[in-house]
Amino acid sequence: MIKFETVIGMEFHIQLNTKSKMFCRCDNYSAEAKPNTNTCPTCMGFPGTLPVANEKAIEWTMLLGLALNGKVADSFNFERKNYFYPDLPKAYQITSSTNPPVVGGYLDIVTSKGESKIRINHIHLEEDAGKLVHASNGNYSLVDLNRASTPLMELVTEADFRTPEEARVFAENLRSIVRYLGISSGNMEEGNLRADANISLRPVGQKEFGKKVEIKNMNSFKSIERALEYEVKRQTETLSEGGTLFQETRGWDENKGKTMSQRSKEEAHDYRYFPEPDLPPFKPKKEVIDRLKAEMPELPSEKRERFEGEYGLTAYDAMVLTSDVELARFFEQGVEEIMKKESKDFIPKESAKKLANWTLTELLGRLNAKGISVKNSPIKSRQLADLIALIDEGTISGKIAKTVFDEMFETGKNPEEIIKDKGLVQITDTKALEETVDAVLDNNPKSVEDFKAGKAQAFGFLIGQVMKETKGQANPKIVNEILRKKLS
Ligand SMILES: [Zn+2]
Repeated sequence: MIKFETVIGMEFHIQLNTKSKMFCRCDNYSAEAKPNTNTCPTCMGFPGTLPVANEKAIEWTMLLGLALNGKVADSFNFERKNYFYPDLPKAYQITSSTNPPVVGGYLDIVTSKGESKIRINHIHLEEDAGKLVHASNGNYSLVDLNRASTPLMELVTEADFRTPEEARVFAENLRSIVRYLGISSGNMEEGNLRADANISLRPVGQKEFGKKVEIKNMNSFKSIERALEYEVKRQTETLSEGGTLFQETRGWDENKGKTMSQRSKEEAHDYRYFPEPDLPPFKPKKEVIDRLKAEMPELPSEKRERFEGEYGLTAYDAMVLTSDVELARFFEQGVEEIMKKESKDFIPKESAKKLANWTLTELLGRLNAKGISVKNSPIKSRQLADLIALIDEGTISGKIAKTVFDEMFETGKNPEEIIKDKGLVQITDTKALEETVDAVLDNNPKSVEDFKAGKAQAFGFLIGQVMKETKGQANPKIVNEILRKKLS
């Protein structure tokens, strides 16, 4: 039986967060604005209007290129891509794919099969189209031009992906990077980040590519992986049975869990590209590129390495903490709070580890369960740092801390306040604890006997009884000492 190799290339459309649109001064797209309110004669394509390029959008495209190790072109130009569709008032889209602003680059990703280098072909900048809203009775459609002419980057990779997982991980990393750069919210569900894939199979060892199938309509990271997995299976089965594949475009149906043919190659458009006569070729200045390089924030991969080295976190914890810019910020603010509290200019690795644990298991777990973003977390970094300090000082036990944490998450209150209101302060009064221990020993003569007969687990049971009596508020270390003394 022939073994096949999967070959995937990806195209990403990324909506830029600029204040205004790509070629006019209208507000950039927001989903909340009423239809056709963010519009002007230019983005509605009135005759006689002239486009003026948004400099910020151009800079941000170059910034992403530099972040992905690409080269900013010495010169690039806008061009017209001609096609007719009701959401495109000019009947052409201004784009820059022939001579793009960024060429080359790569991103290293890590998947279950290890590290892979994904090369980038180019990144170009273009304007988005408007939106059509179809009536439910199918009799008419409405057009909303708020999104028309908003800035959109398109990133095209080389066909370097060999597994659907790689495509998904690349997309996740790309979102993380655009969010670190602050140039896009990169939200796939909301369409700020859109992905298309080209996928083909070839017998292992063969150089030429197989028949390429384009996959559209993948609206989440998970659906990228699922759609491509489905397609690998479909193509493998067809080829193994001696069937033929066609070059075509297929749409992913999330509910049915399969791709469906949308159009074949014969229906492909001829876009009659030609240079945009109203916008001169753009020559990026060296000073601008140097400034962008200097302003480049710390990127996820750099942050990840630093979290491992400086804070002594595990590779996994560092990876999760840096995957989202808000989460990384939350953690680093916590680090600063702890340093402030301890009057140190570094954070002990043990404290950093504790902060990472609380952030990742307790906080992130609750946020994800409730669908709340880190940015809107009811518990702030400072409050978490306070809670950790209260555990370290012995004011509360680790067990009580979880109860306090629950309350903090529900109410947003400070930990000190909750501890005071609910009387949760840890019992460290040796005399009071000795009395409780005596009572527990009196009530459990069998366990005392067992312990003296060498059954070590009886000791744990007795500790548990003391903790139960004190509603978890006894300092376990002191209880341990008292119990040992009394039993010896
Ligand atoms: Zn406008």
